[in-house]
Amino acid sequence: MFAEVILPLPLYSTFTYSIPDGMEGVVTGSRVLVQFGRRKFYTAIVAALHNQPPEGYDVKPISSLLDPSPIVRFPQLKLWQWIADYYLCSPGDVYKAAIPTGLKPESTTFLTINPDFDLLEITGSLREEEAGIIQLIASEKKISISDIQTRTEIPNAATYIKPLLESGVLEVAETVVERYRPKVVKMVRLTIAPGDTDGLHQFFDLTGRSDRQQKALMAYLDLSGFLNAEGKPAEVERDRLLQHSGITPGILKAMTDKGIFEVYKKSINRFLDFNGHTAPLPPLSEPQQKVCDSLLELFRTKDVGLLHGVTGSGKTEIYSHLIRRVLDEGHQVLFLVPEISLTTQLTDRLRRIFGDRLLVYHSKFSDNERVDVWRRVLDSHEPLVILGARSAVFLPFHHLGLVIVDEEHESSYKQYDPAPRYNARDTAIVLAMMHGAKTLLGSATPAIDTYYKALEGKYGLATLSERYEGAQLPEVEVVDMKDQRKRKLAEGILSQPLRLATTEAMQKSRQALMFQNRRGFAPYVVCRNCGWTPRCTNCDVALVYHKHSDMLRCHYCGFAMPLPPLCPACQENSVEIYGYGTERIAEEVHKAFEGYRVGRMDLDSTRNKDAFQEIIEDFSSHRMDILVGTQMITKGLDFGDVTVVGVLNADSLLNFPDFRANERAFNMLEQVAGRAGRRAEMGRVYIQTTDPGNRVLDFVRAHDYKAFYDMEIESRRRLLYPPFSRIINIYFKNKNAADVDTAALLFANSLRSIFGPRVLGPERPFVSRVATWYLQCIMLKIEATASMKKVKHILRTIYESLARDPRIKSSIIYYDVDPA
Ligand code: ADP
Ligand code: ZN
Ligand code: ZN
Repeated sequence: MFAEVILPLPLYSTFTYSIPDGMEGVVTGSRVLVQFGRRKFYTAIVAALHNQPPEGYDVKPISSLLDPSPIVRFPQLKLWQWIADYYLCSPGDVYKAAIPTGLKPESTTFLTINPDFDLLEITGSLREEEAGIIQLIASEKKISISDIQTRTEIPNAATYIKPLLESGVLEVAETVVERYRPKVVKMVRLTIAPGDTDGLHQFFDLTGRSDRQQKALMAYLDLSGFLNAEGKPAEVERDRLLQHSGITPGILKAMTDKGIFEVYKKSINRFLDFNGHTAPLPPLSEPQQKVCDSLLELFRTKDVGLLHGVTGSGKTEIYSHLIRRVLDEGHQVLFLVPEISLTTQLTDRLRRIFGDRLLVYHSKFSDNERVDVWRRVLDSHEPLVILGARSAVFLPFHHLGLVIVDEEHESSYKQYDPAPRYNARDTAIVLAMMHGAKTLLGSATPAIDTYYKALEGKYGLATLSERYEGAQLPEVEVVDMKDQRKRKLAEGILSQPLRLATTEAMQKSRQALMFQNRRGFAPYVVCRNCGWTPRCTNCDVALVYHKHSDMLRCHYCGFAMPLPPLCPACQENSVEIYGYGTERIAEEVHKAFEGYRVGRMDLDSTRNKDAFQEIIEDFSSHRMDILVGTQMITKGLDFGDVTVVGVLNADSLLNFPDFRANERAFNMLEQVAGRAGRRAEMGRVYIQTTDPGNRVLDFVRAHDYKAFYDMEIESRRRLLYPPFSRIINIYFKNKNAADVDTAALLFANSLRSIFGPRVLGPERPFVSRVATWYLQCIMLKIEATASMKKVKHILRTIYESLARDPRIKSSIIYYDVDPA
């Protein structure tokens, strides 16, 4: 028998391994260890079994089977294949993204000392660094190269290791590291044989007259209930027993020695135990109930439904009612949100209702936590609701009944880098279909593509056009910043209307949100004298000044350098900073509204794991009055006391060179506006711009999605952009600028011979060099109905026909299907 396995590598196909005699239980979805290349071992997933020996190479056997039962389910493998075909990537790319790192140990190179080598012979001739390295390895027996580097602090340790390997003093030992460590706790139970209730008396006898031992025994019975469902002594966590009984570990030890208790280790899942009581669902309002009913109705004939509900209309409440129904029917639910900050707020809301049936899964979780969720979903057939960001589509669901994609228009559902460059919303729809489940897309500002499908009848559509309990949509004022500056009404970046409204809100103990789509302190640094600007050495972008760290930083590759005191070009003391990032705005807001508490939410302030939660909790419970943030604060958050929202600079949103620019600008502005006035009091939104006549702003002011859509769909139709076509961007990366240009040109010419005028470019992207790689991009616009399998095949053929050209060979080529 042979197994086709998927390796966690960007390889075009699967690989064949033989199943050795005696290795039982290898099935589709099994996790196996295989050798690939001369030294490396990988955890691979079995994609299929067959008995066709491969031609052209010697088949290696599977080295070992890692689990007694598969960790990937068959429907998942089907989904992986769909992703690889549709998004033009390798199954290995999908595998890497799909499985938590803890489930795919990779080999690490370890070094040991060659036992046949006489160390004394060479001791005298060693350099100091070499001796140090040998000493460390000798004391550790074996150690990885990266550990040598950190432990010895020898810069460039590898240069010393290499001659030692060549002379045979050191050798490589290959060991696989199992990354996942389950949490281990000590448990206690009675040693009594099952069913032997008489034995209990013996144990009391065994305690002798010791009060404390009897107390421990009573506490144990109290906590454990004595026997479990199988009639065996139930187990209790050791720490709990000690705490509950108040006995010392010494007494417990004495009791174990006497044979009363046994103490043993057990690995457990790292779930938060949910001990609270669940609350009933709040009843739906009449319009909400109507929409809920019509969704149920439309799901009788459609697989996908779109809930178009204005901000604050109670979409989350409707989702909750639907989730309850699906759980009651015994099915699982996947609830996707575009941003981790949203899982934070929703976790509280949903936990209250669904208790421990709610699981949360996203990338800020530690690897161990993710493995735990994975295993729980894999092993349990119970109805669960899984709340997660993008990567939750990869979990091993059973009986999936409903997928909810909240804020379905969000571009953050699209993974941009690395491959697989998939859109989690569209993948979720496919996932649902594979399970025979329904998908509900929700948004106040549906994606143009989605709304088009709904109007065409491909998706069902339900609309909720009023806010809950008659709260009004906020009043939007567009503020002309040129005029504000001319009349000297602006103070820094704050216009007069925004200042006045915020002051009033503060006096009434309300809250305000300030949105700026730029992090850092100041995005422009320029020499006043000669025009010098600091640029990243690795990327084609200007550096942004960060005040907290007092550094200039590249937002693409992380490169950082100090702000030079004198201009490096003209040596004058004339380097100035301009413009506003969130860091600077938080500082100005703080000065302008003295005595009020100002917080900031952006990538820099949320790097640690719990930061989202802390900021959101502080703001929700009104320990903070004004929150400044990037797009993180625009999406779906529900804060009742926010009455003022400021968009500090809408210009960059309105002038983006891309066919989705209008869509993105409208969505972003309407969504951020939607954070205001979500309860009784009317909210006010101030959009500051130097382009107040922009049409997108008119639609936002009128909260008129439909009118915006009508305008936008016409221009898409005229220019043959999605949904009237499908776009594939083909990117080329090379460290050499001339080579990347030629490679892209060669490829484009071949493409043109097949696709003709559907090929646009090549062109350098907006940022044409990132992390020392030069970039080129070809845009391919194909029919929306074209078969992606065929397209993939054609692209592969073109690539193979050019593969020998050194400029193609030295380039990295990748595809971005349906770019967001
Ligand atoms: P959306 O997701 O449409 O923006 P939410 O679901 O967040 O709106 O609802 C807005 C606010 O109104 C929330 O605080 C929510 O708790 C409240 N709300 C909406 N519907 C109900 C309801 N049926 N009963 C009680 N509160 C509701
Ligand atoms: Zn200068
Ligand atoms: Zn850079």
